[in-house]
Amino acid sequence: MKYVDEYRDRTLATRLAERITHTVHRPWTIMEVCGGQTHAIVRFGLDALLPTSLTVVHGPGCPVCVTPVGLIDQALQLASLPHVIFCSFGDMLRVPGSRGDLFGVKAAGGDVRIVYSPLDAMTLARANPAREVVCFAVGFETTAPAWAMAVIQAKESGLTNFSLLVAHVLVPPAMEAILSSPQNRVQGFLAAGHVCTVVGYEDYEALAARYRVPIVVAGFEPLDILEGIGLLVTQLEEGRAEVENQYVRSVRREGNRQARAVVEEVFEPAPRTWRGIGEIARSGLQLRPAYAAYDAAVRFREALSQAGSVGVEDPDCRSGLVLQGLIKPPDCPAFATRCTPEQPLGAPMVSSEGACAAYYRYRSHVKRET
Ligand code: SF4
Repeated sequence: MKYVDEYRDRTLATRLAERITHTVHRPWTIMEVCGGQTHAIVRFGLDALLPTSLTVVHGPGCPVCVTPVGLIDQALQLASLPHVIFCSFGDMLRVPGSRGDLFGVKAAGGDVRIVYSPLDAMTLARANPAREVVCFAVGFETTAPAWAMAVIQAKESGLTNFSLLVAHVLVPPAMEAILSSPQNRVQGFLAAGHVCTVVGYEDYEALAARYRVPIVVAGFEPLDILEGIGLLVTQLEEGRAEVENQYVRSVRREGNRQARAVVEEVFEPAPRTWRGIGEIARSGLQLRPAYAAYDAAVRFREALSQAGSVGVEDPDCRSGLVLQGLIKPPDCPAFATRCTPEQPLGAPMVSSEGACAAYYRYRSHVKRET
């Protein structure tokens, strides 16, 4: 396939890995902050090509995985209301809340629908004027512009039965939380190319300078990732801490100004709880007061207050440690035993971008060998 195969060339990948091996002279730990990169690393065995002194850990790169139990519980409550059509991307349906998941609500008669875009949900709202269409707006900076556009269009067109349960999260505050943790061992970051396509990488420059940590914006294909890692280790070996852009074919320093403006118009930063990690200041988005009519948390305040979330995660799930790069999925005692994609204990085993799902899918033998 044109435009993909050339980024998966095995000979070039081997050559890049050899170059990295020659560059590395000391032990380093680096983290990728993108579930797509995690899956590529595990699927193509890129970490196995790298020198053993270079440790690659996986970060909170999956918005589905970091959505807190309390928000899932709110989604379950809204989806159970008889006059609500609850819309979600498919990944969210099996993510466990403290009392089940959206599939369970659907099985019990709730009107839960999988949508592929905000436009799908708006079409549903127009076709069902007597029902309330509530959308679980989950994602990083990449999906926020589409939800923001949907809210603007809903307002302009007078669509009143459409609202969002907003679970959007922002990547740079999460990276800062990892860097400022006393347990941190991350010395360099691969930043997510798709996020930077929208927001650029100006924000990363202050982060790199403040924590003396190199950050390389990279794409998702094996050669992107290996090139990005090569740039990172070169900086680490030379004692530099700069922001570099490997993904020049898609990312500009300022990002996409139009997309940023749309998000800025509709959303504002807010504190957000990250599943397994805790609250991180200004790491989420919430609708601005001018768009409160489209905020499901406001519109359904009473129903949500009656729900009362216990917000409890399964005590055996180590997703917080996985998402902070402190352990790898096979180190979790429940991996591939009590926790599988069919019976997940935590979101990283469910999501198509989850680290546990990546290891299960491509390396489930790891657990059985240990
Ligand atoms: S393997 Fe399952 S239980 Fe363990 S951290 Fe991952 S999602 Fe949680």
